[in-house]
Amino acid sequence: GQALAQGKQLLVATDTAFVPFEFKQDGKYTGFDIDLWDAIAKQAGLTYQLRPMDFNGIIPGLQTRNLDVALAGITIREDRKKVIDFSDPYYESGLALLVGVNNNQITKAEDLDGKLVAVKIGTATVDYLKENVPNAKLKLFPNIDNAFLELATGRVDAVVHDTPNLQYFANTAGKGQVKVVGSLKSGDFYGIGFPKGSELVPVVNKALAELRNNGQYDAIYEKWFGKPS
Ligand code: GLN
Repeated sequence: GQALAQGKQLLVATDTAFVPFEFKQDGKYTGFDIDLWDAIAKQAGLTYQLRPMDFNGIIPGLQTRNLDVALAGITIREDRKKVIDFSDPYYESGLALLVGVNNNQITKAEDLDGKLVAVKIGTATVDYLKENVPNAKLKLFPNIDNAFLELATGRVDAVVHDTPNLQYFANTAGKGQVKVVGSLKSGDFYGIGFPKGSELVPVVNKALAELRNNGQYDAIYEKWFGKPS
């Protein structure tokens, strides 16, 4: 095998903007995924270089083997399992709605009927809305920050995206302007992505299990999400 045998520097993709999993702060990428991967790499003795990129380029980049690993809050799904490999699940997630603080009309999926909804290209949300709210009008963005801006300036009615991302945004940069309503979906899980057949999968799963056992996973979780309630 390639990646391990040569002890090469792995190319590890992350999303450009997905608070608090990966985002730029003071010119540096930080977040839960970034910390978790760094701990996994140390545990397994892997060296790497981070490559932030738009989410919709990540799965194709793994498929063509231009990337060795990807952490981007990637939801484990059957259709994706056909084209890439996943680690064991590392975070439980779901989808929710983000609206303006004064919007009391939109609280659940059906309320999006005929509404203009900002979403991120290539994400599970796009498929969810096409299936469940076919009459919602989608406005697609490569970067969710632009979708948030669109909502703040009243050019769309709502944003639909991953629940932990919306919650973090609503409690930080979006505080006082936006609020999270209606959980649309729960029980999704994030996995680390790899090219099909990568020999890194068992290595990373072993390191992840060790970090769960030795308390490091919990420490990283609490740093970004607080103590689990
Ligand atoms: N979890 C979502 C998906 O896999 C998107 C995550 C993200 O925007 N980085 O489709």
